[in-house]
Amino acid sequence: MPKLNATHNPELQSWVASANLPGCDFPIQNLPFAIFRRQASDEQYRGGVAIGDRILDLAALNATHLIDGDAAQALAACCDDSLNQFMAMGQRYWSALRQALSQALSQGSALERALNDCLVAQTEVEYKLPARIGDYTDFYTSIHHATSVGKLFRPDNPLLPNYKWVPIGYHGRSSSIDVSGQTFRRPMGQTKAPDAATPSLGPCKRLDYELEVGIYIGAGNDLGDAIALDDSDAHVFGMCLFNDWSARDIQAWEYQPLGPFLAKNFASTVSPWIVTLEALAPYRTTWSRDADDPQPLDYLESAQNRQSGAFDIQLEALLETKQMREAGQPAHRLSQSNFSHSYWTVAQMVAHHTVNGCNLQPGDFFGSGTQSGPEADEAGSMLELSNGGKQPIPLPNGESRTFLEDGDAIIMRGGCEKPGAARVGFGEVVSRVLPARGQ
Ligand code: CA
Repeated sequence: MPKLNATHNPELQSWVASANLPGCDFPIQNLPFAIFRRQASDEQYRGGVAIGDRILDLAALNATHLIDGDAAQALAACCDDSLNQFMAMGQRYWSALRQALSQALSQGSALERALNDCLVAQTEVEYKLPARIGDYTDFYTSIHHATSVGKLFRPDNPLLPNYKWVPIGYHGRSSSIDVSGQTFRRPMGQTKAPDAATPSLGPCKRLDYELEVGIYIGAGNDLGDAIALDDSDAHVFGMCLFNDWSARDIQAWEYQPLGPFLAKNFASTVSPWIVTLEALAPYRTTWSRDADDPQPLDYLESAQNRQSGAFDIQLEALLETKQMREAGQPAHRLSQSNFSHSYWTVAQMVAHHTVNGCNLQPGDFFGSGTQSGPEADEAGSMLELSNGGKQPIPLPNGESRTFLEDGDAIIMRGGCEKPGAARVGFGEVVSRVLPARGQ
């Protein structure tokens, strides 16, 4: 199992009082990373770590020269306006900085007075994409999602024969990935109604979200090398929430034979905070494969992956329509799910991605694929919740939706909780649909 250390101790409390409140996403056991600056300022963006409702400004901390050793080198890298350099340094440096920050933020730390000057309220900042994402790969690891979507696109043949053997994915586009708060125009595209003789160009009519976990690669591998399944932890920096917006009508017309293209590259939104793999150690859990299903090929199979390959991360997606927002009504939860339902683990994604020698680089990003669970109310997209647009989803204020309308916002939240461990939250990712160009 991934090792637990003093930073995971559930008894640990911080001198930042808000970090000790029950239900807090960012207690001292979490310490996730983001890139931020004060709102509407011309400050340089730099690294920060969430603690309660504050951010520890890592550039300000670096300037105090109070941290030394490997942690100081890691801290210096976090003064940059992206985390790529820090991500590239590897586990030894990630752990050293986590340990130093845990000690410095603990109740009774001699550094309290000095660090208090390095705190900024989360309500006063704006975020930037935490890494320069070189390459983005979107996986498809929920068999529940793959089966129900497969039924809509191919009723006779929902799950293609390769699904249970290959962690399916495609190379996405990173230029349109942005951080929470993103707004984007409803995409235009080519679609063809089943009864139409020819396709036409127009605004997407079946705009959807996808509830996913995002995975950031830390240390990369050289071109030609493969990352072995049991070595993958050393290459994964951490995880976030990820909304991979999708244009279902564009997708249906374009996706064969080469897969998704313009249905998927107009916007994708990440949460500002990256929860490190080390913070998630208490929430690693067993992974198994049904005895009736094909068992993984050797390069995707290990005792370690069986013992601790899965992550127990609760996920939820909420809809806030324009009408709800204007009436001051709360967002409505559409579904909740858990990353532990995933058919393939993060380690299997990494091992499969590199088995041919493909090089991953610091800051590369994986989408997990829509994380639908086994139950109908655990579906991670409107395509599934509305049964392909056939059953409107009723909303508490009397509105209903099959797909998203202009002005709709999707909010995703996630976190880990269990007895004997501190809660580790992911914060949230929010983004909103604007009318199509020229509408
Ligand atoms: Ca996706």
